[in-house]
Amino acid sequence: MKGSNKIRLGLIIVMVSGLAAAPLMGCSDDEGSQQIIPGGDDDAGPSGGDDTGPSGGDDTGPSGGDDTGDDTGPSGGDDTGPPPGESDYVVLFDDTLALDSSGYSEVVEFDAPDGINSIAVTVSEGPPTMMYFITGWIGPDGFEIVPDGWESGGMPICADGCNNRLMMDPGAFATLAPNNPASQVDPGTHSMRVGAQSATAGIGETLNVATVRLTIHGKVDAAGAPSSGTLDLNFFFTGAGGWTADNAPDDPDFQNMVALMDEIYDQVHIDIGDIAFHDADPNYRVVGGIQSGTGELAQLFAKSERAELEGPSVFFVEGIDSGFGFIQDGNEYNQQMGGGILGISGGIPGPMIVDGTPRSGVAVDVDSSSAMGAPGIAHVTAHEIGHYLGLFHTTENITFIPGMPAHDPLPDTAEDDPSYLMHASGSGDLMSEWQGRVMRKNPWVY
Ligand SMILES: [Zn+2]
Repeated sequence: MKGSNKIRLGLIIVMVSGLAAAPLMGCSDDEGSQQIIPGGDDDAGPSGGDDTGPSGGDDTGPSGGDDTGDDTGPSGGDDTGPPPGESDYVVLFDDTLALDSSGYSEVVEFDAPDGINSIAVTVSEGPPTMMYFITGWIGPDGFEIVPDGWESGGMPICADGCNNRLMMDPGAFATLAPNNPASQVDPGTHSMRVGAQSATAGIGETLNVATVRLTIHGKVDAAGAPSSGTLDLNFFFTGAGGWTADNAPDDPDFQNMVALMDEIYDQVHIDIGDIAFHDADPNYRVVGGIQSGTGELAQLFAKSERAELEGPSVFFVEGIDSGFGFIQDGNEYNQQMGGGILGISGGIPGPMIVDGTPRSGVAVDVDSSSAMGAPGIAHVTAHEIGHYLGLFHTTENITFIPGMPAHDPLPDTAEDDPSYLMHASGSGDLMSEWQGRVMRKNPWVY
């Protein structure tokens, strides 16, 4: 599969018309202005109040929320979380590791405390040209969260045979467990190794000695998994759509977009909390290099180092060059040179708590997303943040990532149903109970 793992990730491949990537030269950072708008309890969305999600009501999943886990009722868990901007996570491991000439670290051990709900792993600070992953994540009693040596299969994704689905990514890596009912994390001693591969060659290519940083966060909820949560967001504006850090907070279209996102996430009992507004370098208004740890998209995502809130960084642009020109038209894909994509996430999930990496963000093309027939900016942004928090496509239209199964690992998302927010066609808004559980396990949801 040489070269195949250059194809990446959590992206909606939806386009209305072809976009050409403009050359970007000499990007100098424009710090611009920034401000923080505290989140209100009730974003008065277009359809008002609380339970007005597109799919209506509380029990969203087609198969209903048969509670096999510890998540309880939809309206439970009144906000007992920490103050805005503070997630209830603990650092379980944070250190620099040397990689040997085969690209592996030594086995690392860490302890998960009682009340552990989920564990978030982020690998960063290695050479940006490499692909990163973890292997051999073994929990207490030998439970195989991620099998050792899965990467020897030559695919960039660990799915079948992997209790916790994950995928390699260039420049940085993240995974969140559990992300489906087959996976679990228990209190006690865990172990894993970090691995790296050349993004252009295959397994076993020798690697000059390098170091990476492994950061592991645990979400601890002594009272059981929370049934609701709050998500803070960092917005970055390149000037696309005429939005800036100064005018977006008061722009009715922008407010409406945020209200619609809040309405979509209301299905999974997640409120949008505080929002920070930043300007970003307008030279990144059109970005390419989406398959690279060093390209324009990676450079833009690295601007997340300026994020003040503990939450994903969202970059609004007006062109994302897919590099391989897949265009979606309805439910069918056409190949077309110069194609763009509506949005892209730095990973499934993206790096958590760790800002400034080449994968620490999502990008949304506001021009194409607001074009006639497109799903809309709120929809695309909610979809990409869904990826960033850990959701796979419910169903892929095409499996362009080698080894990617056609369906997500969740039991309550209907197959081939484009009414789902996370369907690859990106045409619906529906979310399921299990999708909510996964999102609320992300340490950025508090
Ligand atoms: Zn997607």
